[in-house]
This record gives sequence, C-alpha cells and structure tokens, in this order.
Amino acid sequence: MVRAKSQAGVTLIDDLVLASSNEGKLLEFQSLLAPYGLRLWSQRELGIEAPAEPHASFLENALTKARAASRRTGRAALADDSGICIALLKDQPGVLSARWAELHGGPHHDDANNKLVNQQLNGQISAAYFICVLVLLRWPEDPVPLIAEGRWHGRWLREARGEAGFGYDPHFLPDGQLLTAAEMPIAQKNSMSHRALAINRLIKQMLDLGLIVNRGSAGN
Ligand code: IMP
Repeated sequence: MVRAKSQAGVTLIDDLVLASSNEGKLLEFQSLLAPYGLRLWSQRELGIEAPAEPHASFLENALTKARAASRRTGRAALADDSGICIALLKDQPGVLSARWAELHGGPHHDDANNKLVNQQLNGQISAAYFICVLVLLRWPEDPVPLIAEGRWHGRWLREARGEAGFGYDPHFLPDGQLLTAAEMPIAQKNSMSHRALAINRLIKQMLDLGLIVNRGSAGN
C-alpha cells in the first residue's frame, strides 16, 4: 500500500490497532482521533488475544501491549494502561487497580475493589490520582515509542457518590470539582480525565512529528 507523506516527508499514519478489547475506550479514542483521518482497529476485530500485564509500572504494561499488537498485525499500535494511585496507600492499587480485591482473595468486581480500599484507608481521606499512560508504536520494531501520560488529581472520599462512570469513580472527587467522577456527566469527565489529558498530549506529539495532520475540525 502506498502511504501519504506529510510535508516533512514523514509517512502519515492512517490506521492503527488499539491494543485493548474495551469497546468504550475504542469509541472514545476513535472519536478523538477521527479529525486526523485515523482509523482505529480493535484487537478483537483483528482476532488478537490480549497479552498479560505482569509489570510493575504502567509504562512497561502499555509498551508490552502495544508491542504485542503491532507485531501480530504489522500495523502501528496504540496501547494504554491506567489505574488509581492513592497517596496513603503508597500509590496502590496502581497497576493492580482492576484486580485489587481479587488479588486479596475477593471477587473481581468494582464494588469489592472500592470496599477494600476503604478498609485499607480505615476512614482516612487521602490524596489520589487517576493515571493513564499511552504508548504509540509506528511499526512493530519501532525503537522510539511515543509516550504520553495524563494524571487526574483529586481525593479519595469514604462515601460513594454517583452512579455514572465505572471502577473507582464514585469515591474520586477531582480537585476543584463539587461532583465525584461518577456524579458528573460522562462528557464532563471525558473533557478533563487522565485519558483525555494523555490522548491530547499524544495527538500533539504526533502532529509535531508530522505523523498525522488535521483533516477535520479538531481544535488544537
Ligand atoms: P485498564 O486501563 O482498562 O486496565 O483499567 C485499569 C483499572 O483502573 C480499571 O479496571 C479501573 O478499576 C481503574 N480505572 C482506570 N480508569 C478509570 C476511570 O476513569 N474511572 C474509574 N476507574 C478507572
């Protein structure tokens, strides 16, 4: 396939595989990347198994997922890894956020994760942040992955508030907000979240390097 080049002679990326099977993430990333003419494939669409996420850092996990997806497909690949870090718990659950209760002998369930964090905090309010780390590989053996990080700072609240969102949202009160992440409309969360911050930073890097060009009405 002949690929278009940007003015700087860099080959433009026009499609990439998202190293995730999460339909919600696919839709969110797809809509943010659409103005740049980027088509996103999901791993499921391409019949790829998600690799294990055994590492101690978000970055290592995201890189592992992106590398596996790019090698399996031969395409550019985007991977994310995210979670919540709670100051009084030494930034745990961190990379183990999704399986926090399960790793302590409980069920694999958001409610169980939230209950366990409350037990561990023993009634204390703590500073906390959601983090999203994104890795983009231009091709399978890309020696220079693009990396972008977004942190959404706030506080862990003992009482759960709100029904929207998922995961730890009901206990997370973002700095400067009156509503928890589960009380605010999804569009509001998506405009300020760790994922939004990270993807906007990644898009800026891709534009700066001439990997994408603005073909639509993206504000940047
Ligand atoms: P993953 O990036 O899909 O592996 O997500 C890891 C885990 O972090 C999720 O299962 C949630 O428990 C938590 N998490 C990540 N982002 C959010 C968020 O925006 N709200 C609530 N929980 C989140």
